[in-house]
Amino acid sequence: MTKAIRVHAPGGPEAMLWEDVPTPEPGPGEALVQHAAVGLNYIDVYFRTGLYKTSLPATLGMEAAGTVVSVGAGVTNVVPGDRVAYATAPIGAYSTARTIAADRLVRLPDGIDFKTAAAMMLQGMTAQYLLRRTYRVKQGDTVLVHAAAGGVGLIMCQWAKHLGATVIGVVSTEAKAAMARANGAAHVIIGHETLAADVKRITGGAMLAVVYDSVGKDTFMASLDCLAPLGLLVLYGNASGPVPPFDIGLLAAKGSLYLTRPTLATYTAKRADLEASARDLFEVVQSGAVKIQVNQTFPLAEAAAAHRALEARQTTGSTVLLP
Ligand code: NDP
Repeated sequence: MTKAIRVHAPGGPEAMLWEDVPTPEPGPGEALVQHAAVGLNYIDVYFRTGLYKTSLPATLGMEAAGTVVSVGAGVTNVVPGDRVAYATAPIGAYSTARTIAADRLVRLPDGIDFKTAAAMMLQGMTAQYLLRRTYRVKQGDTVLVHAAAGGVGLIMCQWAKHLGATVIGVVSTEAKAAMARANGAAHVIIGHETLAADVKRITGGAMLAVVYDSVGKDTFMASLDCLAPLGLLVLYGNASGPVPPFDIGLLAAKGSLYLTRPTLATYTAKRADLEASARDLFEVVQSGAVKIQVNQTFPLAEAAAAHRALEARQTTGSTVLLP
């Protein structure tokens, strides 16, 4: 038997139940992984509430690190005993062990422990594609990062600075502002009520080539107003709720803007892209350019408490659930 956090109907944190489930056998192309640490991500909330659809009952979670126990037919990239991590669909990571397609696993370098790996794969590979592919950040760019003291946010601040960019972070409290500054944000804006005016002041009127917005509904319009002509809004999350349908003519009116709604799944769908992204991430973490900050841990059995903290904006950096 394994233990898992399962949801039988969409709902609040109380919908998450700690249950016994039979330990699955790895089928062809699959590996059974014993989890040592599980990553908490905002997407887990979207699946729990039903914003993102899944069949039920469902085990939440898209990210974990652990040890390969056994492999099914045809698996060649990992063997039992390998230390591995993943950040991928299908959900099922909130469990003591699970089966998963072996070609979604990445072997961990010796210097990266399980807790760090579980904290960084999803948020770190997200930062990687956002900064290196969706928009290729370069020396001299000024970029805006919403939720700058969050899991993805703290990694983005450090990595963008490492790439030579000036980072403007947006957060909700003074304590988070201090954290964003300590992680590379040159400017921090608290709240988004006067966002475009603040960005105008900071940039001397030039505005921005790119805005990274994971907050969604509450910040979408303000984010568009922070862009220079031909600027790119990267809307990659909905922490405040999904953006309602909008008139695309606004993109013309506000300066021939670009808008993209990317997901990690697309950017890591090909094995080669997954490997390249993980390699890039391991490199900046091992060099010390990006420090993964696990600022909260919870027993996996108490994942509901972790969700409450995340939704109440009480967490900073990354959060790990321990089986
Ligand atoms: P965070 O640690 O960033 O937590 C969410 C943060 O969002 C909060 O701490 C809070 O920061 C901010 N926020 C603003 N408004 C709200 C609100 N109404 N309710 C709750 N939080 C709010 O989470 P993650 O690092 O796990 O994820 C960050 C975002 O990135 C999420 O939206 C997630 O869905 C998205 N994401 C997207 C991916 C993709 O490929 N598209 C992949 C990974 C993550 P503050 O208090 O400072 O405002």
